[in-house]
Amino acid sequence: MEIRSLSEYTGCRVLAKAEFLNPGGSSKDRIALYLIEKAEENGLLVPNTGCCIFEGTSGSTGISLAMIAKAKGYKCHIVMSSDIAKEKSDILEKYGATVERVPPCSIVDPNNFVNVARRRADEYTLQHQNNSEWGSSSSALGDGTHKKGFSPRGYFVNQFENPLNFEAHYTRTGPEIYQQITSQCNGGSSGKVDAFIHGSGTGGTISGVTKYLRTKFPELKVYLADPQGSGLANKVNHGVMFSPTEKEGTRKRHQVDTIVEGIGLNRLTKNFAFLFPNSKMPTSLVDGGAITVTDQEAVYMSRWLAENDGNTRETRLFVGSSSAINCVAVLKIAKKLGAGKTIVTILADSGQRHLTKFWNDGYLDKLSLSTTPPSSLDSFIS
Ligand code: PMP
Repeated sequence: MEIRSLSEYTGCRVLAKAEFLNPGGSSKDRIALYLIEKAEENGLLVPNTGCCIFEGTSGSTGISLAMIAKAKGYKCHIVMSSDIAKEKSDILEKYGATVERVPPCSIVDPNNFVNVARRRADEYTLQHQNNSEWGSSSSALGDGTHKKGFSPRGYFVNQFENPLNFEAHYTRTGPEIYQQITSQCNGGSSGKVDAFIHGSGTGGTISGVTKYLRTKFPELKVYLADPQGSGLANKVNHGVMFSPTEKEGTRKRHQVDTIVEGIGLNRLTKNFAFLFPNSKMPTSLVDGGAITVTDQEAVYMSRWLAENDGNTRETRLFVGSSSAINCVAVLKIAKKLGAGKTIVTILADSGQRHLTKFWNDGYLDKLSLSTTPPSSLDSFIS
């Protein structure tokens, strides 16, 4: 879809993939389905046999996994940080997932949500190895029936470090964006994309989509949209090397009151490193650099879009926090690039996922953030 008010303001063509329209409500449906299908192909998951999917997530991936797990006949156990909006764990429970909330802490801490999820998967597998219900007397045949020797497994999805996350966006999201842009532009020259802008949670989307779009548009410039408190922008702009065990930077996102959920990290995950294992990371990928967006700018943008923009005259855009960050970054980049360019971004989820925090005026008021819809885009973009 075109975000018309941003196009009019910048003189560029601002296009966004409306991922909040997916059945699970976010862009994460893509990796959830892809990773589960790959695990099935590799015999790591077998439907209706007691297998359980484990993941550490800020919510969106968990919801997509829980939905698909329900449909396919798996159990699902999601570990999330206790500061994530409650509506996400409510939805998870409606899909029948077990939700475990743990205090926010660094990835190097064994109690970080990702580390807990990995541990729970191992525990589950061990616990079921000698379980008499499934145990040594039966084995899954893939259709819910069993033969001797099978026991249900815990499968840890590991979206942060699993290169299949990148691959899902490279083989599916990227080509879809390309097809949608070229079909809307009838394959003409106006189908060219000049810039792609996106935030990073796991890095899967920006890596996968970039790698695919570069095959079609070699001149494409890529920019990272990063929320305040995240250490990624600094790494991108200063070409810091990838290190999977690296300690977190000086600005610790798990210690700030995070209103922007799903993006912003202090480390570079394997989804970045996968692309350029031997080069300085991730400057070769994000060649345009990173733009830091403040919480206040993101809140203003979300209120602006809800007041002024929609896919049709009859609709208005109600976006989540990471989408608002992307849109602010789009404006900042468009100013740099000048009019006449085509800029693509993604609206990863909707405001409905953020009612208790990002879209809760009382909550934002306590953080001294203004929620008054701005009168113009000029008034809040620095
Ligand atoms: N937006 C939202 C709402 C998300 O949940 C996520 C993933 N956590 C992202 C953006 C970033 O996507 P990725 O993990 O592929 O970097």
